[in-house]
Amino acid sequence: MINEVKWESIWVTVLGLYPHKILVKWELEPTKLDLSQYSFAIYRSNNQETEFKNINTFIPSTANGEYLDYEPLLHNEYREYFYKMIATNTVTGNIIESDVITWEFQPDYKMLEMIRLLDDHLEWRIGSPCVLYYERTVSDSGHCPHCWDIVTNRQKTSSCSFCSGTGILGGYDGPQPVWIEFIAPNTKDVAHAAWGESQPGQSDILLSNYPVIKPRDVLIEIDTGSLWRITRVSTIAPQRTIIQQMARIDRMNKSDIENKMLTVPTDIKDVMVAQMEKRIEWREF
Ligand SMILES: [Zn+2]
Repeated sequence: MINEVKWESIWVTVLGLYPHKILVKWELEPTKLDLSQYSFAIYRSNNQETEFKNINTFIPSTANGEYLDYEPLLHNEYREYFYKMIATNTVTGNIIESDVITWEFQPDYKMLEMIRLLDDHLEWRIGSPCVLYYERTVSDSGHCPHCWDIVTNRQKTSSCSFCSGTGILGGYDGPQPVWIEFIAPNTKDVAHAAWGESQPGQSDILLSNYPVIKPRDVLIEIDTGSLWRITRVSTIAPQRTIIQQMARIDRMNKSDIENKMLTVPTDIKDVMVAQMEKRIEWREF
């Protein structure tokens, strides 16, 4: 018997990342289904319920993912966008359709200018070059068979090299380059008051609207090679448009398995280091 993907257990969310893109995120509840027998398709329309156009088709390899839609925001006029996802079981031919998720786009030039200024500030002035690894939260293949104890329902060891210590098959996705501002601990006006002072070994950071971070993701500082675990996230997102993200991060131990498993690829490092050098040249003018 083949169980089908059920859309009530799939969450599709849409976020504006203007000026560059709309982010369509989807997540499945943990399932034992063989996702490789499905074809997923993302559709977009700006005409309510009709004229949906296929903008991306893929075979899901994990139970969550995201798609960046660059096309719609090339126009400046007021628009409303509708997205939906369709899963086709390629074995049974069954088709499952998601709800239509809407995102209203109304250009707010003050907001766009804030995003642009923050990007500039981070990329060309003070941001530290980092890469982000996303921890998988759910997985179609479930827990890691090498370290997950099905009797106690917990990890037998946190140093499993098959899942990078996450207990989830596949471990981390990424890396994604990102420019981060480390906020000085005494900068009270910027620090997130509700979180209190950061403790030794912790830091507060500021980043732009992409990549979208979540607790337990891992950051690697390119300069020092230090690994940081994201523990809290606060997002400024008026009208479902993310402007900026703040996070509290904990310095990870040298002995953590992630230090062995997660690395900075040379090509990403080269590009970011070259940008740092350009930045210094410009400053000398
Ligand atoms: Zn494992």
